[in-house]
Amino acid sequence: MLDVATLRVAFGVVALTLVFLFTVTTHRGPRSAYSRWWSLALILFLAGSAAYLFNGTPHQVWANPLGNALLVAGAADVWAGARSLRLPRPEVWPLVAAPVVAFGVASLDHPATNVWSGGAAFLALMSLMIGLASYELSALPRSYSRVRRPMFFASATFSAYYFLRLVAFMAEGPDGATFRAYFGSAVTTLVTMVLLVVVSFSMAALSNEQRTRDLNARAMHDSLTGLLNRAGFIEAATDTVRQMQREKSYGSLILADLDHFKSINDTYGHPAGDDVLQVFAGACMGSIRATDVVGRYGGEEFILLLPTAGPDRAQEVVAEISRKLTAAHADDPRLDPTASYGIASFGHGITDLNSVIASADSALYRAKALGRNRSEHGLPQSI
Ligand code: GH3
Ligand code: MG
Ligand code: MG
Repeated sequence: MLDVATLRVAFGVVALTLVFLFTVTTHRGPRSAYSRWWSLALILFLAGSAAYLFNGTPHQVWANPLGNALLVAGAADVWAGARSLRLPRPEVWPLVAAPVVAFGVASLDHPATNVWSGGAAFLALMSLMIGLASYELSALPRSYSRVRRPMFFASATFSAYYFLRLVAFMAEGPDGATFRAYFGSAVTTLVTMVLLVVVSFSMAALSNEQRTRDLNARAMHDSLTGLLNRAGFIEAATDTVRQMQREKSYGSLILADLDHFKSINDTYGHPAGDDVLQVFAGACMGSIRATDVVGRYGGEEFILLLPTAGPDRAQEVVAEISRKLTAAHADDPRLDPTASYGIASFGHGITDLNSVIASADSALYRAKALGRNRSEHGLPQSI
């Protein structure tokens, strides 16, 4: 037979270890909302179990309702943590209301003599809060992360277990044979330990996944302009071209290069040059549609892929970018940056993005040779 006191000690040690590991492994950098909620939940579970140690002493009268309230507060935090994966800010009132109800009901139920004071309300609230957490996890998009599955399974099982506990408690009370055998403190402590381990492990894995995703996103973007960098552009554009091939669509690619940019740097300084690059990036972003792909291809070179845009539409985009570039420097007459553009239009027969880029590049070269601040078209490809 399992000894409850020993199990509670083991539970305390496991929970403390998890709080420690969780804090150490996920504390680097700004902490995500869900890891804060989960750390708090672990601490509340630990504190709630500690409060029950006063059972059988004169302190039971306040410690027992407090234990119920702390465990329910922990369960509410699990819900809040799961919800924060999906929504920016979970509502706060259930986090307060649920433990207050648990405490209030237990206080009115002879807590000095009854170790199961407010038992039904406690069991129902636990089942409800963890059940809501399961709901939040099930509502995450399928693509979210694989670890949402074990988290969902653990929390749904835990919620169902508390529901069955509630049913057994209502049917035969805490001293009934079934309740003592399957739903008593010993089994519950074991079940809770499993939940804590599964969720902590999953949360840590989730934290790593998010960091990897952040790092990947950062590796694909240019920090000065916020646009995709060369590698990021190639990756995104390759996907887009593949889709265009499937849809037998057509499009245009534009390479843009700022004119005499070196002299802007030399005359007004590198920071002024950086400003122009940011303005140009903004002009590109402001002149495109949501399905277009823009990147900073090199130092002062930019690249745009425009699906379903023929040469005329590409020409309009180029004119719009140049207009925005000029307008942004209208109140600074010394600085009048311009750009040259090479445009390559293509049909769905293209097999290779590189050949389109090469065509745009030679058109750009011609635009430079013909005096800059203009655009040239390459030969249409595979139309
Ligand atoms: P052209 O009209 O023929 O394109 O002349 P250009 O001066 O624009 O071309 P060049 O290739 O000679 O010079 C490009 C300059 O862009 C040189 C480099 O210092 C500058 N540059 C590259 N990256 C950055 C950057 O991030 N910030 C700033 N301020 N300048 C940069
Ligand atoms: Mg250049
Ligand atoms: Mg240049």
